[in-house]
Amino acid sequence: MNMIEIIPVGGFSEIGRNCTIVKWKQESVMIDLGLHMENYIRLTEDEDVPFQIPQTTLIRENAVPDLTGVQDELKTIKAVCISHAHLDHVGAVPFLANKIKAPIHGTRFTIEVLRRLLDDKKKSAVSELVSHPENSKFKVSDNLEVEFIHVTHSTPHTVLVVVHTPDGCVVYANDFKLDNAPLLGAKPNYEAMKKLKGVKALIVDSLYAMDPRKTPSESIAREMLRDVLLGTSSDGKNILVTTFSSHIARLKAIIEISKTLKRKPVLVGRSLAKYVDAAKAAGIVDFEKDAQIVKYGSKLEDYFKKNRGTTDKLFIVTGHQGEPRAVLSRIARGKFFPFNSEDLIVFSCKVIPNEENFVNRSNLESELRNKRARIFTDIHVSGHACREDHREFIRLIGPENIIPTHGDVAMLNAQKELALEMGYADDKVHILKNFSRIWV
Ligand SMILES: [Zn+2]
Repeated sequence: MNMIEIIPVGGFSEIGRNCTIVKWKQESVMIDLGLHMENYIRLTEDEDVPFQIPQTTLIRENAVPDLTGVQDELKTIKAVCISHAHLDHVGAVPFLANKIKAPIHGTRFTIEVLRRLLDDKKKSAVSELVSHPENSKFKVSDNLEVEFIHVTHSTPHTVLVVVHTPDGCVVYANDFKLDNAPLLGAKPNYEAMKKLKGVKALIVDSLYAMDPRKTPSESIAREMLRDVLLGTSSDGKNILVTTFSSHIARLKAIIEISKTLKRKPVLVGRSLAKYVDAAKAAGIVDFEKDAQIVKYGSKLEDYFKKNRGTTDKLFIVTGHQGEPRAVLSRIARGKFFPFNSEDLIVFSCKVIPNEENFVNRSNLESELRNKRARIFTDIHVSGHACREDHREFIRLIGPENIIPTHGDVAMLNAQKELALEMGYADDKVHILKNFSRIWV
């Protein structure tokens, strides 16, 4: 008999606002409570601005999970467990945590980031925040236990969230990659994955399930950056690099290369300052020893008045998607940055595909080209597993049921097609929409 109910709340047949409830009798665990970044940024123009949007607007615009569809379950929630620190997994907590009377669990980095998000909202912690080491197990109610298993991704302390019930367990792998040469932290904990018994269902990130390859290691991204930054003449030129603020391993690589170039790294922007501070508080890495941090882009003008020489520095700035209010766009539009012709602008990211980003990036790149910059794009590898990683992963976990998530319908179907190819029966792979509950 199927005893575990899985309730998809957000992020099913769409990308963003991840949220799932796993329920056993009258006890349940909520996993992730994220923002839909595309819809959220449409309201804010930038991820790097303080939260000031009313809850009703966020729900109407589908920027956060719609908890009105799970009113009854909210009373049964014993724990909210956050898989990692990306805003599409944790970013809705400051807006919605007042609706849930349960502690919020995460790894140290995730909880440190969450604390800073709550501060942004000028609200002290609405629920109890509990941090756990990676690879730990804790009881959340009389019958449910949660296990965090370390896995690699593009932000530190990412875990698989495993909900253990008396009738088997559910594994939530959203997001992850299988990186066997990570730049920060250990390889995925394959041993713990192998030991899982009675996996009733695997809820799995499907963003690149249709991409027939293995996602390259983060160490390849470092080589790509070295290739560009050490293999291109930059004497007497400015160097500006932009990447994801939460990608601490990538920042570490850029800072190290900067030292090889004998340039002082300068990190500029509020969201960079926030994640760097969280990484320090979580005991991961302290960039402030080597790098200078300018929290507010608006202080840059003063900075350049005080710090004349800029070509002995390497600037790491926010705004890789061309967000109009982020630092790189403001630098490109403004008069205060001492641009030279043939300055290097390195985009260590990919454009997250949506209309708004394409327009913003194209505007930004044309502004930079007008200033005669040399532009390097896509110096990046992904944090998400591709099709051949998924094959390894599914074999390792051996779930009875597979529930693809984190993708549009085509991506979810690609994951299903892989599972069928691996011998799964059609009725064991479930393409779900938000609120289409199943029992496993
Ligand atoms: Zn992620």
